[in-house]
Amino acid sequence: MANEHNALDIINDPKNRVTDAGNAGAGENGNDVGEPSGENKGVSRRNFLKFGGVAAAAATMAGAAGAGFAVGRSDDAYTGYGRTFQGGDQFFNREPFRCDVPVMMEPVGKVVRPEWTEYLFLRLRALVDIIKSGKWTPDMGVEALPGPVGDHYRARPGELEIMLESLQRNVKRAEAWKKGKNKRYALAGAYNMALRLGGMELPGHVQRIPEDPHDEHMRTGKPIPPEDWDYRGIWREKPMEFKSPKHASVLIKRMAHQFGMSLVGITKFDPRFMFKGVMRGMPDKGHYTWGDKVPEHWKSIIIFGVPMNWDGTYAAVGYSTSFDAYFRSRVAASLMERFIRELGYPARAQFPGSNYEIMMSPYVQLAGLGQYSRAGVVMVPELGANFRPAAIVTNIEFEYDKPIDVKMADFCKKCKICAEQCPSGAIPFDDEPQTVVRGFKRWKLNEEKCYQQWASGPTQDGLGCRVCIGVCPYSRKNTWIHAISREMEPRDPTGLVSQGLLAMQKNFFKFHEAEDYRSDWDGGKEASYHNPPWWMRAENFLEIEKDWEYHGME
Ligand code: SF4
Ligand code: SF4
Repeated sequence: MANEHNALDIINDPKNRVTDAGNAGAGENGNDVGEPSGENKGVSRRNFLKFGGVAAAAATMAGAAGAGFAVGRSDDAYTGYGRTFQGGDQFFNREPFRCDVPVMMEPVGKVVRPEWTEYLFLRLRALVDIIKSGKWTPDMGVEALPGPVGDHYRARPGELEIMLESLQRNVKRAEAWKKGKNKRYALAGAYNMALRLGGMELPGHVQRIPEDPHDEHMRTGKPIPPEDWDYRGIWREKPMEFKSPKHASVLIKRMAHQFGMSLVGITKFDPRFMFKGVMRGMPDKGHYTWGDKVPEHWKSIIIFGVPMNWDGTYAAVGYSTSFDAYFRSRVAASLMERFIRELGYPARAQFPGSNYEIMMSPYVQLAGLGQYSRAGVVMVPELGANFRPAAIVTNIEFEYDKPIDVKMADFCKKCKICAEQCPSGAIPFDDEPQTVVRGFKRWKLNEEKCYQQWASGPTQDGLGCRVCIGVCPYSRKNTWIHAISREMEPRDPTGLVSQGLLAMQKNFFKFHEAEDYRSDWDGGKEASYHNPPWWMRAENFLEIEKDWEYHGME
């Protein structure tokens, strides 16, 4: 493959790096008179203005926006999908933005490991099990709610009420589906369920990728600690040796792209971001027995992400779930896990849905892929939050990536579009991040409120909203205007580019009132952010009478 370029080579090629002189159009001596000299690696205000002048820049941006808008709506433009596996033609160059500590990960208090109950779906399942077992009913009040789930809700007054309301909405939605009220979602629902059945756990469906120690434990009744599971199937007497940690990183990243992962970064394993009381393969997934042990061979973690289907995200709410990316990320995780074990190293996949023993967000940042957003999730320069991560824990010695600071948080301070559009009010409006979460100050999503919106969603399983991702300026399709914007914005110290981008975003796109997003049986008008793509419109393919209107943007 003589002319095949490695993405890292392209990104790291000095020719592709931004320098003061190269980027800013600086004076002949590379240093403008009257501006601070030397240390500033960004673009000076004067240089930015010289780059074309404010008016010219505005006109350029407006023209670009118009053309980009048209191009970006074509079926050929999908976020995250480039022309090559390696993506050297589409990835943002992180190198100029490397920093030692991720933004909003500077501890302002003791960094505390999360309890398993901090993961919404673990506590949701535990709560439903408690109610089903008859040990507790809502009229007994939160004081009587047993176990760690009771402790969780007692520490968060009011949250249990929201969750119980969500459970009622689940029942309402199931009834609506039974009565055939959702024919308009027939294709979107079938698409979603096909992926869910193929890739997610459901009662009666054990066809899972990757193999999961929890399944094996359920099948045999025998506990499988990670010291056994992670080394299974390794046939080499000793691992293949890498020439250096750097060689290991380059190879694994290349293979990650080959296996379908668009984003990949590698960082050191840090047990502070590992749930206590979770270990798949142990009885009850380790909730009551595993404690806070960390397997000794967990040294490094490979973090990767795949883009989500853009059409569905854009058409949120009813046409959008994360299952398509869940499916592809877990398939990719399975392939990588097997690949690493073939080389003789232990490997353990961390993948959607309830198969994480770790928190993904801190690791995605530590591996240099992205930054926390106002919406409380991590965004990456290429895709915004329109991606889904998975990971592999191993003991390979790598050259680790550093975090990045591309000023996404600064943009979030001004933008607030997701908070304005979130139908549940789950996203904070605070100008500055100010919630301390396990020792870090950041914006914090109210998970219970968010889930309440999901529970009123129109899909069979009530798992779909993501309006916040659809409306986010960072999630635009991967068009040339998107590429230009993501390169210019973090290098502009004047803030003009972000102001312009924000003005375009707020004026070119339509936004709904929160209640519009509800289903008609819930008093709403089934609005979607944008209308669904042609291939998700049931009336285009099925013998059904269309007795509804679409309430999104074309
Ligand atoms: S919509 Fe705006 S505020 Fe929200 S995450 Fe995106 S950039 Fe940040
Ligand atoms: S998924 Fe929907 S409800 Fe949840 S934070 Fe995003 S916009 Fe709000």
